[in-house]
Amino acid sequence: MQFLSWLLALSLAFAPRAFAQSDPGSRYGQVPPAAAPSLPAAPLPELGDASSADLTPQQERRLGEAVMREIRRDPQYLDDPEIAEYLNGLGGRLVAATPGARQDFEFFGIRDSSINAFALPGGFIGVHTGLITASDNESEIASVLGHEVAHVTQRHIARQIGIQKQMQIPMMIAMAAALLLGRSRPDLAAGASTAVQAGAVQSQLAFSRDFEREADRLGFQALNGSGFDVRAMAEFFEKMQRYSRLMDSGVVPTYLRSHPVTTERISDAQARTQGMPFRPHVDTLEYHLVRARLRAEAMDPVDAVKTFTAAVNDRRFANEPGARYGLAVSYMRAREYKRAEAEIALLRAGKTDSPMIDTLAARARLGQGDAEGALALLRSALARHPHRRSVLYATLDVLQGLGRFDSVLATVAEPMRLYPREARLYEARARAYAGLGKRLLQHEAQAEVYQLQGNLPGAIEQLQFAQGAGDGNFYELSAVDARLKELRAEHAREMKEGRKPF
Ligand SMILES: [Zn+2]
Repeated sequence: MQFLSWLLALSLAFAPRAFAQSDPGSRYGQVPPAAAPSLPAAPLPELGDASSADLTPQQERRLGEAVMREIRRDPQYLDDPEIAEYLNGLGGRLVAATPGARQDFEFFGIRDSSINAFALPGGFIGVHTGLITASDNESEIASVLGHEVAHVTQRHIARQIGIQKQMQIPMMIAMAAALLLGRSRPDLAAGASTAVQAGAVQSQLAFSRDFEREADRLGFQALNGSGFDVRAMAEFFEKMQRYSRLMDSGVVPTYLRSHPVTTERISDAQARTQGMPFRPHVDTLEYHLVRARLRAEAMDPVDAVKTFTAAVNDRRFANEPGARYGLAVSYMRAREYKRAEAEIALLRAGKTDSPMIDTLAARARLGQGDAEGALALLRSALARHPHRRSVLYATLDVLQGLGRFDSVLATVAEPMRLYPREARLYEARARAYAGLGKRLLQHEAQAEVYQLQGNLPGAIEQLQFAQGAGDGNFYELSAVDARLKELRAEHAREMKEGRKPF
């Protein structure tokens, strides 16, 4: 399903954002932006030769990274390890069941109430929170993600650009940047983009019907191969069609504009289930918790408390722990921490165990000014769930808040060995060094953040700052020099290689 060609990701700039902005409480769980050096102006990718054939996989990745750098700066980007962990777990199941999925995928949330998901070049897949909150089961979300994964593995974006290559790439990138920057940099966007121009680019880049059909077909296979309920795809299409009849504007315009649910798509999806055994999928606890949390956050806190209280009292829920967790989240947002803790205690009494409950419990402690209590809860959770990075990041945040910078550094050491490509770990390290006043080491760590995000010029600049910091010893300086040499060579290579990378 969806949905969008990659450029429609940029329709972010036009998406309804009432929820995202009217409710500061909805940023619950979000880690404040690192006290890292301010971002350098995002370098526009270099275009290379737009007249040549399809994009190479490397160019696709660079293009995707360039767009991601813009998206990460957008307030609607859900910089939330818990949601990201859930989406990547779910998406990873589908990727594993998709033939030919060789590259890295990164699934991320966008706080937007419309029902949507989109693929960017290079394996970045954005999921609107509205898709999760509107779902009735996990297989519905999986049916959408499977479709998006197929757009990536089939290289539809590169092929699409190949099909209409004349002059398009420079225009698309200019538009991409302008649309995204339009949020925060009206000076740059003024005149560069209008909704009309953007609409023109969007319609030119919408995937062809053949690509959509192929993504539906392969998405269905992935759904089946990863053990989800294959009927969910047709059911979700039908639900979309009902929505589209009900609303002529508001909730689903993006979806309707780009991906009309045709009778053909529905009947194709139904036909594929013919003769397949009925195999219901049991939704994960995490799905119920994530959906409840996002639903609670989409409402005003008082309404959320009322809604979830009624659901729990009248036993109107699909999943009791989900409803109770939603109530606990609602109490948190209403700053009724004791009541949130009472719900958490009931969840635990019912033997519901999830790292999401642990981190919520820690936040309830933090809300009452008890950072030490929060830390103790998180430490114990981390011992039970050593690989849950959402718990790790919550722990690092509390340590940072307590000023225990040395503990931050000690805590990230082992995870950095296990997950050397995780930018957030380097970010934590950079913040800790900033707290310790060690400037060379701070910039050195920040350089790795940028390098991992595909921003070599930004990384090189950080290393130059590190050279000039004046507080490093001989060995530290030598390490910075060596790394700078490496990254400069890598950058030069990229600039030189045949068609220039983005
Ligand atoms: Zn599609």
